[in-house]
Amino acid sequence: MAYLSTDKVEHHHHDVVIIGAGGAGMRCALQLAEAGYRVAVVSKVLPTRSHTVAAQGGMNAALGNIVSDHWHWHMYDTVKGSDYLGDQDAIEYMCRAAPQLVKELEHQGVPFSRNDDGKIYQRAFGGQSREFGEGGQAKRTCAAADRTGHAILHTMYQQNIRVGTHFYEEFFALNLIMEDGACHGVMAWDISKGEYHLFQAKAVILATGGAGRIFKTTTNAHICTGDGGALCLDAGLPIEDMEFFQFHPTGIAHVGPLISEAVRGEGGYLLNSEGERFMERYAPTAKDLASRDVVSRAIALEIREGRGCGPNKDFVLLKLDHLGEESILKKLPNIHELALRFAGVDCTKEPIPVQPTAHYTMGGIPTNRHTEVVTQNGDEENKVAGLFAIGEAACTSVHGANRLGGNSLLEIVVFGRACGLRVMKWLKEHRYHKTISPDAWQTGVERVERWLNSDKAESNIAEIRAEMQDMMQTHFSVYRTEEVMQEGVASIEALSKRMVDTHIQDKNRVFNTELVEALELENLMSLARATAASAAARKESRGAHARDDYPDRDDKIWMKHSLATVQGDTVEVNYKPVRTVPMTVESFPPKKRVY
Ligand SMILES: Cc1cc2nc3c(=O)[nH]c(=O)nc-3n(C[C@H](O)[C@H](O)[C@H](O)COP(=O)(O)OP(=O)(O)OC[C@H]3O[C@@H](n4cnc5c(N)ncnc54)[C@H](O)[C@@H]3O)c2cc1C
Repeated sequence: MAYLSTDKVEHHHHDVVIIGAGGAGMRCALQLAEAGYRVAVVSKVLPTRSHTVAAQGGMNAALGNIVSDHWHWHMYDTVKGSDYLGDQDAIEYMCRAAPQLVKELEHQGVPFSRNDDGKIYQRAFGGQSREFGEGGQAKRTCAAADRTGHAILHTMYQQNIRVGTHFYEEFFALNLIMEDGACHGVMAWDISKGEYHLFQAKAVILATGGAGRIFKTTTNAHICTGDGGALCLDAGLPIEDMEFFQFHPTGIAHVGPLISEAVRGEGGYLLNSEGERFMERYAPTAKDLASRDVVSRAIALEIREGRGCGPNKDFVLLKLDHLGEESILKKLPNIHELALRFAGVDCTKEPIPVQPTAHYTMGGIPTNRHTEVVTQNGDEENKVAGLFAIGEAACTSVHGANRLGGNSLLEIVVFGRACGLRVMKWLKEHRYHKTISPDAWQTGVERVERWLNSDKAESNIAEIRAEMQDMMQTHFSVYRTEEVMQEGVASIEALSKRMVDTHIQDKNRVFNTELVEALELENLMSLARATAASAAARKESRGAHARDDYPDRDDKIWMKHSLATVQGDTVEVNYKPVRTVPMTVESFPPKKRVY
């Protein structure tokens, strides 16, 4: 290819390069830049457009500002919510750190909502209990109205500007520079100028967010294409627990935007076509605030049994008008606006039509609780030198098979900081850049040039993407069966082969959004393949993976994490044990999950 030449690649040297400017990437960058390291943050969009900005409901911490609370109860709820697949050492670390980190965010400038006594406001969210204390519902989710993610992301950005973090905005990471099993940097494409950049670093941190766009109906932004996980798969590394994809119970029917769990936390509830508050049947104690997998399955069953609403009986209703106009406009202003805009419903007067919608990637890049990327070789866990992962892109596994609402904003801050601390230790031991091969840039350049030079004209990327999203939605939704999933695996594999003959029409280099979509589709496709294969392989029901043909959880055989790798035409699924031993407290043994 004519373009291939080293003088067309700009080289950069940083101590650390972080891919991703969401809450996780920026919290980590802050830790490192404040300590004086030269930190690059590479982001395919302007930092404040990262998906963290869309987070509504809030962030969990056992502050006990409304009712008494304790981090140990938070830990218990998270382990139970994870359907016992979460790694208990990481969960303990996160829940213990939570109160301190919320206070730290407040001091950094996050404008949390307040109680009358001036303390941070906390609302009830799904799956929150006070199991070891007085019992009953906890109120653990710290909120800035219903725009908590917006507040956190903007605060993190401002703090990073203060400490001099180097931002490379609208740069698309193409591949990891891996040599001798270690990561030395990343190749990126400057979207706005159409130029190549090689970032060499002593540590590389992946903070690229979730992969919700593998599904057709999702709450995720268009940029949530799981790029970090795909970069790892391309480098021959595995990806963990991809069969566990959270369907949020209350996406706006047919379009997807999220109606936060905060609505039910504030007292909203679900109704079927008979006007029945059906969650009382499925979760007699927690009702509408049972954990998300439970509520999504209940809605899917109501719809399946003919009690859905609307002409096609394919959604249920979320009622909140009884909370009163004043309270809705004060505590849930964004929800009011979203319902008006996307459903044409004024929720101070009428219920909102909702249905389960793909929302959160529990799986991701395998890491230990120090955020180091790990691989498994038999009984042995090996670290990938120089590579770290955090946030929704990572599977640290604090969420196991099902995430509790409010635990992800917490995760990005807790492990963003933990990663900063661990990387500082790493940098003390690894003070110099390694010499890398002079043509280390080549793979990344080839990845882009293939699209810009291809003249194949069989199918375009929009078609393939739509087919893939359709397949994932049909074959790997809330309820799954062997036959439907095997069909899904075969269709996805066949579709991925068609990528070879896919083309883009726009061959320009400058701000070529079609090219970016093509690169994202490649990433989505490897993740869809890993998700499909991992789901078809797991013969039990656990958390978000619910099978009609294997309705029970099987702890004897399946209390283990899956690890999928993609090599050419083959997707292989292996397993590793769950870390059931916490850091300091006793382990929570698996028991039946009732709410
Ligand atoms: C609508 C919605 C509401 C939510 N509400 C809540 C809530 O109330 N509470 C809660 O706890 N959680 C909530 N979540 C989940 C939570 O917001 C996310 O899991 C979390 O914010 C993810 O943060 P992150 O930093 O890992 O990734 P993101 O914020 O998604 O950022 C990813 C970053 O990676 C960059 N990137 C990706 N690929 C590339 C590439 N190839 N090259 C360069 N850069 C790249 C992007 O530019 C971006 O900067 C919600 C999620 C959604 C979708």
